[in-house]
Amino acid sequence: MPKYVPEPFRIKMIEPIRLIPAAEREQAIRTAGYNTFAIRAEDIFLDYLTDSGTGAMSHHQWAAMMQGDESYAGARSYYRLKEVMDHVFGFKYFVPTHQGRAAENILANLLIKPGMFVPSNMHFDTTEGNIRARGGRPTNLIRAEAYDPRARVDFKGDMDIAKLRAFIEEKGVENIPLGMITITNNAGGGQPVSMQNLRDVSAVYREYRIPFFIDACRFAENSYFIKLREPGYADKTPLEIAQEMFSLADGATMSAKKDGIVNIGGFLATNDESLFERIKNELILREGFPTYGGLAGRDLDAMAVGFMEALDERYLEYRLAQTAYLGDSLLEAGIPIIEPPGAHAIYLDAKRLLAHIPQRELPGITLAVEMYRQGGIRAAELGTVAFGYIDPETGEEHLPELDLVRMAIPRRVYTQSHLDYTVETLKEIAGRSKKLKGYRITYQPRLMRHFTARFEPL
Ligand SMILES: *Cc1c(COP(=O)(O)O)cnc(C)c1O
Repeated sequence: MPKYVPEPFRIKMIEPIRLIPAAEREQAIRTAGYNTFAIRAEDIFLDYLTDSGTGAMSHHQWAAMMQGDESYAGARSYYRLKEVMDHVFGFKYFVPTHQGRAAENILANLLIKPGMFVPSNMHFDTTEGNIRARGGRPTNLIRAEAYDPRARVDFKGDMDIAKLRAFIEEKGVENIPLGMITITNNAGGGQPVSMQNLRDVSAVYREYRIPFFIDACRFAENSYFIKLREPGYADKTPLEIAQEMFSLADGATMSAKKDGIVNIGGFLATNDESLFERIKNELILREGFPTYGGLAGRDLDAMAVGFMEALDERYLEYRLAQTAYLGDSLLEAGIPIIEPPGAHAIYLDAKRLLAHIPQRELPGITLAVEMYRQGGIRAAELGTVAFGYIDPETGEEHLPELDLVRMAIPRRVYTQSHLDYTVETLKEIAGRSKKLKGYRITYQPRLMRHFTARFEPL
């Protein structure tokens, strides 16, 4: 039996969810053009579309929100957040932003000129989008095992240091305005980065005087993986590990909708005073005054409390165990996933589960549709639709290596029985998988097509 760590909280406010009848689910998915993004939330039973902004806040966070100071400038809420920021992240300067991509937008706008490169282990799609929007070229330099779904390595999010060094030498430091790393690696299965790798990456960036920014969305989950897996860290607290990670960088971007356990919020931090001056001016133009950054005072208070709760060891033990429980239960049932389970999501390997459906006939869409049909479960295809494209020059279709369906787990929201129900649903689908047929695209936009594409069954 896969191990389950009981929830270290109890429920005192509930939000009803219901499984609508099968005939209504059929109608809902057809109306949605067989795209799970287009289903109304009230027609969904269990929603694994994303872990972003979907977490449950604690009574401490709600209580803190009631004390939000809504002064336009210099609010008490800002100083409460600043105290936590200084303690956990330790950068000299920061501004709050309404979410992660707002921080990325400001940074890209200030640092990137057309033709410049930004290396990382793997950029998340909004980071990639913001770099490209300025004419820059996001480059992924992750270790090779990350592309093998069954390779079980401890730190599958690590960057390839030799590749990084060769890349800098080849492109020239003058063409690399900043370097990044994403912890944990969302685009690659939520896999962690080791402290040793952060140290090595930091040393290379510092040697070449390239400013080093951490995409810190899941910093607490990454800290706990280091505690569990990296020699020398078993006796350190997640807070101490986080402090050490950030001491290696020159700045960070963050979506607090992940490890801030809030519904909205983020920040951009730096140690560079002159960059900070420019950041503030950009922020005032686009987001708001530097002590609130497009958020309400109460949102800053919820973030300040959320960062500390995300670092609570009992919470992190439960969080990682919950995801591993779902992943291990699926593996036990013979359902293929990306291994080992990451922290925030389980990625189903649709190409392997539905091996009889050719990749052009969208096995990932087939599986996501079937999960909704069978159990009212919503997940997102991250495969042929999300990452495939038609080459504008040759007109040829480019198919990605993997065809995945992501189940992201909202923080503190679902219980073990919800996960068991999910495993049962997938087992039923796997049992009749041979009978399933693929889909074809009837509408697709030019970019980010998985959000709005429409399909029909073959
Ligand atoms: C969610 C996310 C972002 C973007 O944050 P938003 O709050 O959605 O704008 C950036 N990087 C990573 C790794 C993320 O997971």
